[in-house]
Amino acid sequence: MEKKRSLLHTQKKKSKKCLDPCPVCDKELYFDEHYSKRAGLLDENEEVVGWMCPFCKSEFDFSNRVTYIMPMDNSRGIA
Ligand SMILES: [Zn+2]
Repeated sequence: MEKKRSLLHTQKKKSKKCLDPCPVCDKELYFDEHYSKRAGLLDENEEVVGWMCPFCKSEFDFSNRVTYIMPMDNSRGIA
């Protein structure tokens, strides 16, 4: 009987990935365990209704559904 030795290298290297990426621009929104970079959106009653990505200015509700996407600016003048 032949002994079979199988070395399984199943350990995956932790790939660098965003913890909380913006669904639109993929920028990292994770700041630390307590805060994110998401900017809160208030309605007229000052109720928080969603959040905005500070990078691409897209707006989302709390189901991460996009409620507003900044239109692509064809005059790339905004710094
Ligand atoms: Zn974004």
